[in-house]
Amino acid sequence: MSEAETPSYDVLIVGSGHGGAQAAIQLRQMGFGGSIAMIGEETEPPYERPPLSKEYLVGEKEFARMLLRPEAFWAERDIVRLPASRVSRVDGIAKTVAASRHPEIRYDRLIWATGGLARPLPCPGADDDAVFAIRKRRDVDAIRARLDRVGRVLIVGGGYIGLEAAAGFRKLGKHVVLVEMADRVLARVAGTTLAQFYAAEHRRQGVELRLGTTVEAIERQGDGLVATLADRSAIAADLIVAGIGIVPEVGPLIAAGATGGNGVDVDSACRTSLPDVYAIGDCASHANVWADGEQIRVESVQNAHDMAKVVAADIIGEDARYEALPWFWSNQYDLKLQTVGLSIDHDAEVVRGDPASRSFSVIYLKRDRVVALDCVGRARDYVQGRKLIEARAEIDPLRLADDSIALKDMLAD
Ligand SMILES: Cc1cc2nc3c(=O)[nH]c(=O)nc-3n(C[C@H](O)[C@H](O)[C@H](O)COP(=O)(O)OP(=O)(O)OC[C@H]3O[C@@H](n4cnc5c(N)ncnc54)[C@H](O)[C@@H]3O)c2cc1C
Repeated sequence: MSEAETPSYDVLIVGSGHGGAQAAIQLRQMGFGGSIAMIGEETEPPYERPPLSKEYLVGEKEFARMLLRPEAFWAERDIVRLPASRVSRVDGIAKTVAASRHPEIRYDRLIWATGGLARPLPCPGADDDAVFAIRKRRDVDAIRARLDRVGRVLIVGGGYIGLEAAAGFRKLGKHVVLVEMADRVLARVAGTTLAQFYAAEHRRQGVELRLGTTVEAIERQGDGLVATLADRSAIAADLIVAGIGIVPEVGPLIAAGATGGNGVDVDSACRTSLPDVYAIGDCASHANVWADGEQIRVESVQNAHDMAKVVAADIIGEDARYEALPWFWSNQYDLKLQTVGLSIDHDAEVVRGDPASRSFSVIYLKRDRVVALDCVGRARDYVQGRKLIEARAEIDPLRLADDSIALKDMLAD
């Protein structure tokens, strides 16, 4: 292709998920008048992922209601969508990318917003067509298409996605076994109080939890599958769902010379080490101010959105630093969990309210200061608690636990 024919954009966004879409939206909202294109592997317009393991899995939400914006929005805002195309190469010097269906696209600024691939189960038999991840719409459509042939579901991974899926399959009347390698669920993201609460809730709802073990092999036997666990026990299932994390999709950027390891490294304005290349969302490894500056990746809608805003501001020449306070939610059965802050490396947990009442909060402390809250059915604690985190408040744990005092009244002291 001659140079004149090479399409060229002021901003090229790779990935049309939460971060990519928000970056385009934000640029236009901030008055950016240059050309914007968003290239993404998926065929669909940008859509919400959280319902995939929640309402969409159980058939309670239509896909059309998951679109981040109506289909016409993108063209109306002069945002070019290049769907069903995967970027495989970045040339940070020529400032071009190569993608399926688009051999060469030139950019002035590149925003890398590719999230991650569902981590495949590392065991023989994991490539069976009855083994799924829940990451994209097509995963859930494929699961739903075979539901009438499924009585027994095995879920591997006791993080939020695995637990939400377990709740969904129970709602659909399936027999559910959940295997988690750690000795508790939510081991990576929450403390022991919350983990024990959710484990008890899932057991009460009929989920068989197998903790401290893992799947070592999957074998097809007739119409079903048999998974052999590390403890040598065997579990028969018609469908297996793996929710064991993601592998950040940063290969082309790293090959182009960007620094990274667990994702791609970005600075406080989400700039990678390549000129004019930003990275945002699940794939961006950053020094998070709410984790004492520790270099981490955060997998949440909040993180993708707020990083997109920082990049848009940087592109239009405004000062911006990524310092947003993390928040997250999870719906399982009738329980609504809202979390704020990061509980990484906490050294104490204070429980407010009684978990048996199914309405309580866990307040995480690190070196005596409030760093995070997990609130189950407690929107007020969630809203008021974030102020304590922002203030890095140091409050007597006995007071924090006293449910007769509102969290908002604790700051004044
Ligand atoms: C089932 C599920 C439930 C979740 N529930 C919650 C929740 O309750 N609350 C919450 O805060 N977060 C939740 N999350 C996490 C949240 O959805 C992610 O953190 C968020 O989507 C990250 O946005 P992103 O833009 O980084 O990546 P994504 O939204 O994953 O978008 C990345 C896009 O890039 C595309 N892509 C990847 N590589 C390439 C390439 N080389 N070329 C072109 N395109 C590419 C992908 O196909 C994808 O469309 C959930 C995620 C899942 C999967």
